[in-house]
Amino acid sequence: MEYIKCIFCHSEANDVVIEENGYTGVQCRTCNLIYINPRPKFDDIVDLYGHDNAHASAESHIDFLYAKTLYTKHTLQIIKKYAEGALLEIGAGAGYFLKEAQRQKFEVYAIEFNKIQADFILEKHRIPCELTALNENTFGTKKFDVIYHCDVLSHFYSPIMEFGRMYNKLNPEGYVVFETGNLGDVNKSYFKYYPKFQYPDHLFFFNESNIKALLNESGFELIKMYRYSILPQLFLKKVLLKLTNIIKPRKIKSIDIKKKDLVQYIIYFYSKLFFAIRNKLKNVYAYLFYLIRYKLGSIMLKKGVPQTMIIVARKKSER
Ligand SMILES: [Zn+2]
Repeated sequence: MEYIKCIFCHSEANDVVIEENGYTGVQCRTCNLIYINPRPKFDDIVDLYGHDNAHASAESHIDFLYAKTLYTKHTLQIIKKYAEGALLEIGAGAGYFLKEAQRQKFEVYAIEFNKIQADFILEKHRIPCELTALNENTFGTKKFDVIYHCDVLSHFYSPIMEFGRMYNKLNPEGYVVFETGNLGDVNKSYFKYYPKFQYPDHLFFFNESNIKALLNESGFELIKMYRYSILPQLFLKKVLLKLTNIIKPRKIKSIDIKKKDLVQYIIYFYSKLFFAIRNKLKNVYAYLFYLIRYKLGSIMLKKGVPQTMIIVARKKSER
């Protein structure tokens, strides 16, 4: 663990705003960036991904979700307004975004640190995938027209350096498109709606002005920030979770028919019915969450509310 200063204004004056899993998140008093401090060592972070102790297990990412397709199509619609050609995704997960991008005529490439997922991308989707962090030699001398990442920014150990690497791997006037939250701008009274902050795998939480500073320092020109309030989604999730906990039955694999215990029968069939209905409703939920996140969310913007942002920035000719 090491103590660090704010990466933008190098100030040391901070307030503790998050405490989770034995880690603290501090907020810079000058620029409002929230960052984990003290920060775990680089090797420990690398370890986290390699061993899959990170927030969601690799298998859960591979589990195909209808919601992912909806989110993917939404983002691709935005990207296509600006660019076409070779697209690299950093942190490609199970590769479903790239699969859809490929279907929409992009030439696709992946970077994924988790071996299970990287193998899945290679073997199942047959999309070229590298297991190492972006560097000069990523896919040899290949340069990209778009570099995309979703919910990856908070994981970068050195965000300014990483964006510098993206700059170097983009064609002239290439685009970086990424989705991230706005926690640094969020009013503290909303923090209770976040189920978790995922410490220690999230190292930085940005706000709008931090993102502008990041882009500026790494040679990008901000083209557009698409913003969506996630407050309705966070709220609905919380309610649904509570509700599910109340009505969710114990899972019973089988019953002993000889016992002829009526209560056992009822519990057994209720549990069968519950999980069958839940599986049937999955897609309905997914569509509902999509509508709430990107449609309702885009009209329910208010200063200080939790948001997700899709940011489009173009490489400047000189850094
Ligand atoms: Zn600062």
